[in-house]
Amino acid sequence: MDDKLKKVFNFPSKGLLQSKELYEYMLETSVYPREPEPLKELRELTANHPNAQMATAPDAGQLMSMLLNLVNAKKTIEVGVFTGYSLLLTALSIPEDGKIVAIDINRETYEIGLPIIKKAGVEHKIDFIESLALPILDQLLEDPHHGAGSFDFAFVDADKVNYWNYHERLIKLLKVGGIVVYDNTLWGGTVAMPDELAPEEMKQSRQLTIELNKLLAADSRVQISHAPLGDGITICRRIY
Ligand code: SAM
Ligand code: CA
Repeated sequence: MDDKLKKVFNFPSKGLLQSKELYEYMLETSVYPREPEPLKELRELTANHPNAQMATAPDAGQLMSMLLNLVNAKKTIEVGVFTGYSLLLTALSIPEDGKIVAIDINRETYEIGLPIIKKAGVEHKIDFIESLALPILDQLLEDPHHGAGSFDFAFVDADKVNYWNYHERLIKLLKVGGIVVYDNTLWGGTVAMPDELAPEEMKQSRQLTIELNKLLAADSRVQISHAPLGDGITICRRIY
């Protein structure tokens, strides 16, 4: 990551708070002391990966874990696994007979975290599918028994260009009352910057994120909360 990008993301902390110190304070005070041991291990293992910044921020993860518990999530979908931080936290948050359909185009990165997932005793909850996500979501929608209206929770953290396509499918796959969380919806804070100030390599996703945020805000099918945790997450609850 070049220096300009590091500055935008306040790297190594991705937080969007007014200072790196404040973000660290929140993590050290409220997040890390409560982080389950296997998740901590996976986070530390991933920190050495060249794309470490892709992992879900632990503060956002902590809220997701609470949301999973609040809706008693048993059946979930994960779009974008990488080394598995959000996947493992989901697996640890759902019951023994819970199931996660986890989709990523890259099995290799999933396998980096897999030994920790196995050691945590939750691999049996995960159905990992190496594929583009869109065709798998379409397949799920065609399943008359386990498809539409059957999922409690979904987390989307993959290619920004497809977020709205994912939303159109996930909103049908979720039960009424189910939740989908979108990651990176503040895109390093660039959504509120004049285009010319945003780093060149962030411009395309910045524009896509701005469009997504408008569409989600106008979608009457969901209740939303745009929370400035991690890199920004938008929580959508299907209301009909
Ligand atoms: N949630 C993960 C975590 O907590 O570590 C991070 C996910 S990372 C930001 C994005 C992932 O999306 C990458 O592993 C990438 O291979 C995957 N991806 C990108 N485009 C995809 C697509 N069209 N379908 C499925 N996965 C995709
Ligand atoms: Ca992310």
